[in-house]
Order: sequence, then structure tokens, then C-alpha cells
Amino acid sequence: MTTLVHTRDDLASVLDEAAGEIAVVMTMGALHEGHRQLMRVARERSAFVVVTIFVNPLQFGPGEDYEKYPRTLDEDLAACRAEGVPVVFAPSRDDVYPHGAPSITMQPGPLGDILEGASRPGHFSGMLTVVEKLLLLTRAGVAYFGEKDYQQLALIRRMARDLELPVEIRGVPTVREPDGLALSSRNRYLSADQRRSALALSRALREGATHTDPESVLATAHKILAGEPEVRVDYLALTGADLAAAPVEGPARLLVAARVGTTRLIDNVPLTLRKGA
Ligand code: AMP
Repeated sequence: MTTLVHTRDDLASVLDEAAGEIAVVMTMGALHEGHRQLMRVARERSAFVVVTIFVNPLQFGPGEDYEKYPRTLDEDLAACRAEGVPVVFAPSRDDVYPHGAPSITMQPGPLGDILEGASRPGHFSGMLTVVEKLLLLTRAGVAYFGEKDYQQLALIRRMARDLELPVEIRGVPTVREPDGLALSSRNRYLSADQRRSALALSRALREGATHTDPESVLATAHKILAGEPEVRVDYLALTGADLAAAPVEGPARLLVAARVGTTRLIDNVPLTLRKGA
């Protein structure tokens, strides 16, 4: 049975009855297989799972899609039921921010200034602020986040470490469509033609990651993206697995952000660099 609660008081009452460690999967709704994979991993490893559904106004910039972001609570609830999630917390804006916009917020530090942070000022501060609040409200001992939002995952890990939050952060690999497109709630904005163009992102990353020297990785990915005129690249970056400068060899990450029409998409893959390869 899945219990839906909308207020922090009702959530507290339900959590008072929970036995064992609480796991949380935080989402903005419009749930898809990527979210469901997080729920499955959480359910396999933790006794009690809470899914949060909240479109957080603090992490949207002016001109971004806060107003039009898909809100599909009935379908989302059905997905949570199908995954056997015991509790869904879908609070209102006023319940999360009862005193209005918070005057004290999380600051992501230098890792928040690059990549997504450079394109979306304030996004990571808003994201970290709500994640910290939801970790406390859900009393989570473990929290699951997707590698799809790789920089977000890295920042949340850093916040937990730097601020001694009593929570374990676990990453879950990106779930893709059979043709490679990373699942995203924003994919529903794409027309059929735009969706075809958007495949260049995952193709560029996949082909780039077949190489092991940085120049070939980036040149291969660039070429594929340049061949798709509908795709306007925001960044293509090769970094270390921790998002610091790319190593000469060892684990690395290839990341892309691009606009297809008015829809902004992100994706990333792991790869291994080898010296002299
Ligand atoms: P969102 O609802 O987009 O804020 O995402 C909620 C959580 O689901 C985040 O931890 C995301 O990284 C994760 N997520 C979104 N899409 C995917 C995907 N395709 N594969 C794995 N995790 C995902």
C-alpha cells in the first residue's frame, strides 16, 4: 500500500511508525523509468522508502520552465504504487517554504560555478537548499540520486561530507531509451523531429567514450554534435570522475548540455583515459 501525504505534519506522523532505516528518492514528478529505477534500487536495499515529488521553485531561473514543468500526480502515484513505495510526500510550495523564500540557503562553492552552474546561476543553490530540507523532513539515512544529473550528485555528496549530514548518498546509473536517449521528464517537450536530433547527444558521448586519449574523445563527440544543426551545444566537457580537470589517465566523465528547440537537455557517460593510447 502506498500512502500519499501532502504536509510535513502528516509525513512526520507516518515516519513515526516507520521501522528501520529510511531511504529517500527525491523527484520533481513526471516520473519515468529512470525514477522508477531509483525506487527499485532503494526498495531492494532499504526497509522503508519515501519518494518526494516537488517542483522546487528555488532551483529554476527566470525564463526557465518552472510554470510549464509537467505535473502529473495521478500517474506518478500509480508508478510509485507499482514499485511498492510505502510513502509519497508531495508537499505544496508553502509546506516546504512556510516562511517564504529562505534567507539562509546552501552555497555550492566552486564546483557549483562550472558546467551547469555557469549556465544556470542559482540553480545549484536552490537544489541543495531543498535537498537539505527534504533530507531532514524525511529523516533519511540513505538517499538515491541519478548519475543523469552528475554534477548535482557530486554536489550533494560534497554537501553531505562538508556539513556532516548523517546520510549516505548513493548514485544510480542513467537509464536510457533503447536508442540511447537518456530518460528525462523534459523529453516530453520534444517533437518527433527534435527527438531524432536529440539522439546526437547520447551518440556523441557513446562514440567519444570509445576513445582513450582526450583529444580523440572530444573531437569525435564534437563532430557528431556539429553534424546535427538543430542541436545548439551549451558545453561539451571532459573532466575527472570528480568533475575536476581531466586526468591524463584513469576514470573520467564526458558531459554535454545542449538546446534542441527550446528544450535544454543534459547527458554524461563514464570513460577511462589511457596515457599514450
Ligand atoms: P528529477 O525529477 O528530474 O529532478 O530527477 C529526480 C531524480 O531522478 C534525480 O536524482 C535524477 O538524477 C534522477 N533521474 C532522472 N532521470 C534519470 C535517468 N534517466 N536515469 C537515472 N536517474 C534519473
